[in-house]
Amino acid sequence: MIVNHQTPTPEISQKLAQLRLTVQRASYAYYVLDDPIMEDGVYDRLYRELQELENQYPELISPDSPTQRVGEKPAAQFQSVTHNIPLYSLENAFNMAELQAWDEKWRRFLGDSLPQDPKYICELKIDGSAIALTYHNGILVRGVTRGDGVTGEDITQNVKTIRSIPLKLHLDNPPPVVEVRGEAFLSNHIFVQINQERQQTGEPLFANPRNAAAGTLRQLDSRIVADRRLDFFAYTLHLDSPNLHDHWDCLELLQKMGFKVNPNRQLCQSLLEVQQYLETWETQRRELPYMTDGVVVKLNSLSLQKQLGETRKFPRWAIALKYPAEELPTKIISVTFQVGRTGALTPVAELEPVQLAGTTVKRATLHNQDRLTELDLHIGDTVIVRKAGEIIPEVVRVLPDLRPTGAKLVTMSTHCPECGETVIKTPAEAVTRCINSSCPAIVRGSIIHWCQRPALDINGIGEKLVQQLVDAQLVRSVADLYHLNMDQLVALERQGQKSAQKILEAIAASKKQPWH
Ligand code: NAD
Repeated sequence: MIVNHQTPTPEISQKLAQLRLTVQRASYAYYVLDDPIMEDGVYDRLYRELQELENQYPELISPDSPTQRVGEKPAAQFQSVTHNIPLYSLENAFNMAELQAWDEKWRRFLGDSLPQDPKYICELKIDGSAIALTYHNGILVRGVTRGDGVTGEDITQNVKTIRSIPLKLHLDNPPPVVEVRGEAFLSNHIFVQINQERQQTGEPLFANPRNAAAGTLRQLDSRIVADRRLDFFAYTLHLDSPNLHDHWDCLELLQKMGFKVNPNRQLCQSLLEVQQYLETWETQRRELPYMTDGVVVKLNSLSLQKQLGETRKFPRWAIALKYPAEELPTKIISVTFQVGRTGALTPVAELEPVQLAGTTVKRATLHNQDRLTELDLHIGDTVIVRKAGEIIPEVVRVLPDLRPTGAKLVTMSTHCPECGETVIKTPAEAVTRCINSSCPAIVRGSIIHWCQRPALDINGIGEKLVQQLVDAQLVRSVADLYHLNMDQLVALERQGQKSAQKILEAIAASKKQPWH
C-alpha cells in the first residue's frame, strides 16, 4: 500500500467526493433497486480508483464510504434480521498478478505456521444473489439476503419456493443447527422469458439475470417468486463436525444433504492449475445455461481458513477472479479529427490508455457532430469505452458527476486538420466534410482505396508508401500512380531497387484488371 503523507489538495478532496458519490449511487441502484446504472466492470474500476485514493490519503476515509462496507443496508419492506455468522463479500482480483499477490499475502500472514502444499479449490462464481439458510434439526427455518453482511432481509417465504433448496435436509440424524450459504440465480432462458413477459405487459425490463434474481427474491408476493423458477447452488456449509476437514468435504456433504452443488469445481495443487482452470472457464462459461462473472479460489483446508480468518469485509482465504470487462471507464485527454477518403471528419477521443478485452485502448471513435452533441463531452471527462469482440472501440457514455470544474466542451472542428480549409455540414447529413479535392487526406484515402484488394489490388502500396508519395507531391491523384518511375521510388526513404521494381510491376499489372 502506498501511503502519501502529503496533505490532500482541494482537487484531490473534490475527486474523492465525486468518486464516492458515483460509487454510492451505483451501489444503491444495484443492491437496493436491482436496477444497475453501470456495467459491473465500470463499477469495479471506479471502486478501485476510490480505494487507491483512500489508501493514499487515509485521513479522507469516511465510515460511510462504499469501501468500508459490504453491499447495502436491507430495504424496509422485509423484516431486517442479524446474520448468525456475518456474510462476507470477496476480495477481487482482475488478473493473475493480483492472484499471485493474494497468495503471497495470506502466506505472509501465516508467517512460520505455513502449511506444506496447501490446496486450492476453484469454483465458478455464479452471478446471482447470496442467501443464508438456517436449518434447525434438519428443517429450513430461515432464509436471509446478504444485505450489508451483518443484517439482511428475512425472505424465508420466498426461499421456500425455490425447488432446489431442500425444506428438510436429507439426513437421518440432522445436527441441531446447520447454516448454509449459496447463490440464488436465474437460468438464462428463464431470464429471457421473464423479460419477454415484462415487455408484453409494459413493465421495465431487468438489466441482467443477476438483477432479475435479486429483484425476484425481494418480491412481496411469494406466488410471483414461485412462478419465476429461481435456482440455487450451495457453496458454504457452517457446521462444527470432527469429520469435516476441508472445503471439498463440505461441498460433498452439502450434496448429500440434498443441495445442488455446482459440478464444475476443481481441486488444484498449485496456482498454475488455478490459472488453467480460469482460462478454460473464460471461454467454456459461454456454454453454461446460467451466468458466471468469474472464478472463486478458496483454500481447501478448514483449519487454514480458521487460522486466516476475515478482514472486516472479506475472508483472507478466498478471492474472486473476475473476467476481463468489455466496458471500462477512462479519461479523455484530447479530441482529434480524422479525415477520410470522402472528406468525412471523424472526431476521435484520445484516451488515457486502458486494458480492454485483451488490448490496450488509447483511442475511440466519437462518430460525428450529432454524437458529440448527444454525449455533451468535455476534455478531462471520465467516459465509458466499449470494445466488444472485434468492434472498433467507442465512447458509450460520459459520467458527468466526475467532470473536473471548468472542463472545456468538445465541439466539431470548423477547419480541416489536414489542409486547413473550412469544413461544411449540410442539415441532411450527420457527417461534416472537407470538400477540398486536393486535401492530402482525401488524396491519400482515395489512393489507398484504389490499391486495395477489392479494387485494383496493387500489391506493395500500403498506407506508409502512400503517405510518402503524397508528402513528396509525386502523386496528387490516382492517375499519377501510372506516371511513377524507378528514380522517383528509390529516392524515397527506405525504398530499395528490388521492392520499387515490384511496385512498378504491380502498377503495370493493375492496368489489366477488368474495369468494373
Ligand atoms: P462479489 O460479487 O464480487 O463477490 C461476492 C459474492 O460472490 C458473494 O456474496 C456470493 O454472492 C458470490 N458468489 C458466487 N459464487 C460463489 C462461490 N462459488 N463461492 C463464494 N461466493 C460466491 O461481491 P459483492 O460484494 O456481492 O458485489 C460486488 C460486485 O458487485 C462488484 O464487484 C460489482 O461487480 C458488482 N456491483 C456492481 C454495481 C453496478 O453498478 N454495476 C454496483 C455495485 C456492485
